[in-house]
Amino acid sequence: MAKITTVCGDIAPDQLGFTTMHDHTFIDLSVSGAYMESMFPGIPQEMVRFVPENYGFLKSGTYLMCKELQVVDDLEGMTKEYGYFAALGGKSVCDAAPSTARGDVRKMKALSEKTGLNIICATGIYHEAAIAEDMRNRDTEFYYHFCKDEIEKGIDGTDVHPGLLKAALATGSETETAVLEACVRLSAETGMSVHVHTEPTMDGDEILDLLNATTKKYGVDPGRVVVCHMDNRIACGVMVGDYLEDPDVDRTLDLTIQKALLGQGYNIGLDTWGMPVVNPNFFMPDDFERMKALVTLIDLGYAGQITLGNDFSSKLMWRAYGGFGCTRFEEYALPLLEQLGREEAVKKLVYENPARILAY
Ligand SMILES: [Zn+2]
Repeated sequence: MAKITTVCGDIAPDQLGFTTMHDHTFIDLSVSGAYMESMFPGIPQEMVRFVPENYGFLKSGTYLMCKELQVVDDLEGMTKEYGYFAALGGKSVCDAAPSTARGDVRKMKALSEKTGLNIICATGIYHEAAIAEDMRNRDTEFYYHFCKDEIEKGIDGTDVHPGLLKAALATGSETETAVLEACVRLSAETGMSVHVHTEPTMDGDEILDLLNATTKKYGVDPGRVVVCHMDNRIACGVMVGDYLEDPDVDRTLDLTIQKALLGQGYNIGLDTWGMPVVNPNFFMPDDFERMKALVTLIDLGYAGQITLGNDFSSKLMWRAYGGFGCTRFEEYALPLLEQLGREEAVKKLVYENPARILAY
């Protein structure tokens, strides 16, 4: 019998219900924060303090330089935030944080008990720039055993077991490809799904080639893989300079790699709804563009391979601090889809796809 592993134990796939496939609960991004600080030296501390006067600046992409925003461990606040999701009919949260960015799983369990939500957590390693030195440049065998231990023995000395495998491709470095291979090998052995964080800076074809080579090697069906954050790159096809200088150049969506991945059977995540990052050098999509990508891909027949999420990962996104909370796609995209007559797709996006992918 197929099962889904939550932080409170295994459930049957039909108990999953309305699910967000990429959000976060308790998280520790202090290593990413240190990396950000090294990338932007000279920004004074008072500009990244977590006070309302700085929210706009922090939302421009510098928020991880704020120490207070690197670690989320507030159980009471998180209970309130996920209460809004539960109030909208939400039943399950797939917390996509890899082991190297994950917060306290004891708190995840407590959050699940307080809210009644199923929480599914991950084992795996984040991208190279966001992990500690001693986790870099190890071989596939090391990462394989690291994840296998968490699957078999539980996480951090608890009885909490992961329900998915998490890899990351930001540059395709040796560390990242070794982690991917370890996760795909474990997927072949356990049946668990592999979720791959991607960065828009890595070439889409390179990602596809790596995924194909690895899944083929271990005989894993691409349908067991979720390629995350595929919405981040939909607006990158147009260069900022061309757009600004040529009145005839418009912001159009580039869905080439998304269609290629879907065509070969992979699932893709459109999972950063409401993401407030603004970069002057390349276009990040807004929610209208995410929406157009979603509708386009649904109309091409891919509703059964798309997952949704908000990547709710920072206090800046909390309703308590003026953000959309963890309910952006639920309140923005789903009603629009129904208005547009695509309610059949909604069933797949938030019920059927999550249950099929997370079951093993
Ligand atoms: Zn995430």
